[in-house]
Amino acid sequence: MNVANLLVRAARCFAKRPAVALGCRVLHDYEQLGARVTALAGALRTRLDLQPGDRVAIVMKNSPAYIEALFATWHAGAVAVPINAKLAAREIAYILQDCGARLCFTGGALAELLRPLQPELPALAHLIDVEAGEEYQALFAAAPLEMQPCDPSAPAWLFYTSGTTGRPKGAVLSHRNLAAMVAGYYLGVEAIGPGDSLLHAAPMSHGSGLYILPFVAAGALHIIPGSGGFDAEEIFELLGCHTQVSLFAAPTMVRRMTEAAGRTQVNLDNLKTIVYGGGPMYLDDLRRAMATFGNRLAQIYGQGESPMTITAMSKALHAACDDPATEHRLTSVGLPQPLVEVRVGGPDGTPLPPGELGEVCVRGDTVMSGYWNNPAATAETIKDGWLYTGDIGCFDEAGFLYLKDRSKDVIISGGTNIYPREVEEVLLEHPGVAEAAVIGVPDPEWGEVVVACIQRESGHALSADELDAFCLERIARFKRPRRYHFLDELPKNAYGKILKRELRTRFASAATPETPQR
Ligand code: AMP
Repeated sequence: MNVANLLVRAARCFAKRPAVALGCRVLHDYEQLGARVTALAGALRTRLDLQPGDRVAIVMKNSPAYIEALFATWHAGAVAVPINAKLAAREIAYILQDCGARLCFTGGALAELLRPLQPELPALAHLIDVEAGEEYQALFAAAPLEMQPCDPSAPAWLFYTSGTTGRPKGAVLSHRNLAAMVAGYYLGVEAIGPGDSLLHAAPMSHGSGLYILPFVAAGALHIIPGSGGFDAEEIFELLGCHTQVSLFAAPTMVRRMTEAAGRTQVNLDNLKTIVYGGGPMYLDDLRRAMATFGNRLAQIYGQGESPMTITAMSKALHAACDDPATEHRLTSVGLPQPLVEVRVGGPDGTPLPPGELGEVCVRGDTVMSGYWNNPAATAETIKDGWLYTGDIGCFDEAGFLYLKDRSKDVIISGGTNIYPREVEEVLLEHPGVAEAAVIGVPDPEWGEVVVACIQRESGHALSADELDAFCLERIARFKRPRRYHFLDELPKNAYGKILKRELRTRFASAATPETPQR
C-alpha cells in the first residue's frame, strides 16, 4: 500500500476534474496532476538518485508545487518531511539534520535561507528550488515512474511536532496511518463529493497538508490562495470563484474570519465547512463563529502522533447543541472517531468513569509507530499500543470528550489542580480581553500560583482589579489569578499556539515589579 495510489486512482477515475487552482485560476486537472507527479517521481529516482525510504524535506509556503512534491516523494517510495516554513533557519536545520533529509524541496527566499545550511548537513545532497523556473520545470521531462510498492507500515510522513515543549520530535506516520486518517475524515467529519474544494489557508506542513489526502481521494479541487497563507478577506474573495469550499482553520483563524465577516458583506453560498482544531476553541469565539457562518463548523481533535483523528464534532453535532440540555457540548471536542479507541485513564492507565479527569489515550490504525530515532521518547508516549496524548480531559455520559488542558500545563497550587483553560475561558468573557494565557509559576508558599498574561482589546484600559472582581464572580476563589501581566502581544509559535513555556520563564520570578500584590 502506497498513499500515492490516491492520486494514481484519482488521475484515472476523475481525469478531467479540476485538481489544483492558484487563486481563482485552475492550473491542472487530475490527469495533468497525475502525469506531473509520475514525471517528477521519475526525476527524483533517475536524475537525483533518490532511494526508497530516503527522507525528502519540504520547506515551502503553501503552493501548487507542494502537492506535487508530496505525491512525487511517495510515488518514488520515499518519506516526506514537511517542515513549517515559518520556523527560524536554526530550527529548520535541526529537523533536516534529525531526519537525515537527502533532498529538500524549497522555494525563493526560503531557498536562500537554507543554502548556507547545506554544508553542515552532509546527508542533504539536493536543494530543489521550485521557483527556479526552467531548472525545476526540466525535471518534469523525466520518464514517468511506476508507483513504488510500499509496506503499509513503512514511514510516509515524518510529522515534526510544533514544539511548544522541548525540541521537535518526528512522529513517524506510516502509509496505513494516513489511509486510516482519510477514512476518519469521511466517518467523523463528512463526505467529500464532486464539485468540492479544499482551500489551503492553514500551513500545508500541518493540518491543511494532511487534509490533502482525503480531498485527493475524492477528486476534489485544491485551492492555493495567491498569498500562500491565511488572509480572511482573500478567503471570502475566493468563495466567489470556487464551489463547496472547505478549509481547515486553527481557532485564531476562525476568530479572525468572524471578525472580518462582521466588517464586510460576505456571500457564504460557496462555503461548505470550516474544520477547526489544533488548539482550544473558546466558547465565546465558537458562538460568534456559528452566528456568522451558520451550520458550517466542524471540529477535529488530533495531534501529530495521531493526525486529525482522535475525536470529531461534525456539523450535525454542532447543530444539535441548540438545546439547553445539550449546549454545553459546544465546549467539548466531540465524539471519539469511529476508527480509534479513546479512553481517559488514571496514572496507571485504568479507564476512568464519565466526569473524572485523566489523561486522554488513543489506540488504533491512525497512531504513529513512534518518534523518529527516539526510542526513549516513544516508550514514554506509547504504552501497550496506547498513545498517551498529554491532554487532560473527561468524557460525559453521552460520550463527548472535554479537554481541560495539557498535562504539563496543569497548575498545582496548594495541592489542588487548576486547569488554565477553565480560567482562560472566564477571562475571555470579559470584553476588554483580546487574548489570555494562564500559567503556573513557582511560589514558595503554594508550590505554584496562577498568573494570567493578558492582551487587552485595543482601546480598553483594563486593570488587574477589574479582572479579579470579574473572576471572583465566576470561578472558585482558589482558581483566580494571583497576578496579571498585560502584554502588547502574547508570544506564539509558528502555528499560532501560545508559547506558555516562554511566559513561564519570563514571569517565573514572583517579584516582578509590574505585579500587583493581592
Ligand atoms: P500538534 O501535534 O502540534 O497538532 O498539537 C496537538 C495538540 O493540540 C493536542 O494534543 C491538543 O493539546 C491540541 N489540540 C488539537 N486539537 C484540539 C482541539 N480541537 N481542541 C483543543 N485542543 C486541541
